[in-house]
Order: sequence, then C-alpha cells, then structure tokens
Amino acid sequence: MDLENEVIKGSKDFINHYIKPHESKIEIEGLPVIDIFKKAGEYGLIAIPLPEKYGGLGLPYKTFTRVAMMLSKYSGTVAMVLGAHLLATYAILIGGNEEQKKEYIPRLARGELIASFALTEPSTGSDPSAITTEAVKDEDSYIINGTKAFITNAGIADIFIVMAKTDRERGARGISAFIVESQDEGISVGKREEFMALPAFPNASLVFNNVRVRFFRLLGSEGTGFITAMKTLDIGRIATGASAVGVSQRALEEAAKYSQERYISGRPISSFEIIQSYIADMAVSIETAKLLVLEAAQKRDEGAGDLPLYAAMAKYYASKVAVDVSRYAVQIFGGYGCTKGYAVERLYREAKMYEIVEGTSEIQKLIISNHILKGVH
Ligand SMILES: Cc1cc2nc3c(=O)[nH]c(=O)nc-3n(C[C@H](O)[C@H](O)[C@H](O)COP(=O)(O)OP(=O)(O)OC[C@H]3O[C@@H](n4cnc5c(N)ncnc54)[C@H](O)[C@@H]3O)c2cc1C
Repeated sequence: MDLENEVIKGSKDFINHYIKPHESKIEIEGLPVIDIFKKAGEYGLIAIPLPEKYGGLGLPYKTFTRVAMMLSKYSGTVAMVLGAHLLATYAILIGGNEEQKKEYIPRLARGELIASFALTEPSTGSDPSAITTEAVKDEDSYIINGTKAFITNAGIADIFIVMAKTDRERGARGISAFIVESQDEGISVGKREEFMALPAFPNASLVFNNVRVRFFRLLGSEGTGFITAMKTLDIGRIATGASAVGVSQRALEEAAKYSQERYISGRPISSFEIIQSYIADMAVSIETAKLLVLEAAQKRDEGAGDLPLYAAMAKYYASKVAVDVSRYAVQIFGGYGCTKGYAVERLYREAKMYEIVEGTSEIQKLIISNHILKGVH
C-alpha cells in the first residue's frame, strides 16, 4: 500500500476509534477535544500535508482535504480545531525563516504544541487592514498591546500567530506577524464563546497587555504580516470548505436513511417524488462542492496563481451547499428534524457557521468577483 492510501486508512481507523464513539459527547455535551487532538498528532493526521524536512509526511494538501471531509462528518469540532492549528502552522511555513520553521514546525506536526491564528479583533473582522493591535519596538523586542476576538484554540493553544501593526500609517502594509507563546507574560484569555453549534469548540478573545516578544519571533520581516495572513487563509479556506462538505455528506446520509424508514400511508417517504427530488438535488450539489474543494486543493499543491480565486469559490460554495443540504435534511425528517433527538438539527446549525468563519460569504464573493472582473479588462 502506498503512503497516501495508508494515511487514508489510518485516518478511518482514527475516526472509528476516537471520534465516532464520542460524537454525542463532543457535539452535544461539549466534551473537550484536546486529548483527541493529541491522538490525531500521534496518528500523523496533522503531519499529512507538512513538508518532510520539518517532520511532516510531505503528502499533497488534497490528501489532507479528503481526511478533513471524513473527520467533519462526525465531529466538526475536531475538524475545526485541527484546521485552525494547521492555519497557524502554515503561517510559519509561509512567512517564517528557516530557524523559526525548525524551532516550531516539527512539534506542531506531531501535535505536541497546539497553535492558533489571531487576526480578528472586536471592532474588525472582514477588514483586517483596520486592526489596532500594535507592536512597538523596544531594545531587542517588540511590545504588543491589543485585543483579538473569536480566536479558535485560545485556551488550549501553546502558540499564537498574532497580527499586529508595526506601522500605523501604512494600513495593511504596516501589519506584521508574530509568534507569541501562551506562557509569555501579559496574555489573558477571555471567556469561551458559546456558539449556536459545536459546544466543545475552544474559541475566545485574547488580550495582550504589554506582551514582550523578542525579535526572533517576528515572522519574516516587518510589514509582511498581511500578505502572510492572506496566503495562509487561502489554504485554510480549503479546509473549511472540506468541513462543510463533510457536514453535507452526513446530512444526506441521515436523510436518505430516514426517508426509507419513515412510512406515511403505508409507503416510505422515499417513494414520494418530491422527497426523491430533494435527495437528488442534495447529492448533486454535494458532489459539485466536493469537486470544487478538491480542485482548490489541487491548485494549492500545484502552487497555481489562481489559488485565491479557487479557495474563495470552494469555501463560498461548499458552505452554501452545507446550509441548503442540512435544511433539506431537516425538512425530510419533518417534526423529528426539529428535535434534539436527531443529528440533522445540529448539522443545520453547524453548517451556518461555515458561512462566517475564515471570511464571510460576502467577502468570498468580493474576492471571486474581483478576480473575474480584473480578468476581463
Ligand atoms: C466559529 C468561528 C471561528 C473563528 N475563528 C477565528 C480564528 O481562529 N482567528 C481569527 O482571527 N478569527 C476567527 N473568527 C472570526 C471570523 O474570521 C470573523 O467572524 C469573520 O471574518 C467576520 O468578521 P466579523 O465577525 O467581524 O463580521 P463583520 O466584518 O463585522 O461583518 C458583518 C457583516 O458585514 C458584511 N461585510 C463586511 N464587509 C463587507 C463588504 N466589504 N462588503 C459586503 N459585506 C461586508 C459581512 O459579510 C457580514 O455579513 C472566527 C469566527 C467564527 C464564527
């Protein structure tokens, strides 16, 4: 068996042993997922797309994308925690120097360290150029002050990739990225956010109060933080799209099964043409979203110049499909679909979150239309 097939098989084993049996505990009762994350590291799931040089398996991002789809069918929380960790890891790979990569990536690949990506602030999410967190030079260090909001893995992370202004006058070009460690003095983690779904999801605000970081922890050079963040998000959006596909696949499976078990007037509801039509629409849109997400992953693997366009299309479309498909699933379940007794109602709530996280659908449409409109001039 080649390494790729071995990894897919290993990931299925991992899901069967460590996720499926705990799905309700995680996704309904809010069981913390840190131990499962560590196990995922031991199983090599995190290492899949990372370079061999830094302890990764060196496999295509497309392989990780397939694994993310499988994971999110049973736990959106685990998929998103892993996704946020990889997002921060890619920021170091994209923006960091050799020394920084050697220092952090191998431990991140094994899951020994947990990482988090801190860009959003209470007053700005969609327009990152407006962030106000500041990093001011002081002797051999920078002093960071500011507040970040909605930061996934805050509370469990060992390191944060923090975007801060080193030059307030230069907008996006004045943003720099820093590696901040959770043990650094002056960091405090706010109360965990409670979302409409994913009760175990670790996400909170972060306050930086005169946090001193040595020059060594500046990623790349001053002013390159925005570009690093945007390139990193291009990769992260593929993983978010993959999670949305996983949720859609699960909703369809649940709905198709239920439609054959639920009898009305002596017939299964799957024999009604309108239900068959829903199921056909769900299946076609999921397959289309899956192909688009895999195409974006392929673009990433090829280093294609139009990756930002494909990543935005994949994330936009897959999250829209997840909302549509999970809504149809609730409809097929009828009254039971609205109760907590079946998975479809929480899949519907979870799906909505994918339209917001890692850049809203409106922002993805802006990216897509900008690319298209530029191309026709
Ligand atoms: C579950 C979850 C996890 C997250 N994890 C992280 C994380 O790990 N790290 C991190 O940094 N952030 C994280 N975020 C934050 C997320 O990236 C932001 O919520 C998102 O980018 C939107 O920003 P906002 O919430 O400030 O909304 P706003 O920017 O205030 O947007 C409000 C509305 O205005 C629309 N809008 C804004 N600008 C435009 C425009 N130019 N044209 C048209 N419409 C526009 C938006 O689309 C939206 O509908 C997370 C969010 C969620 C929900």
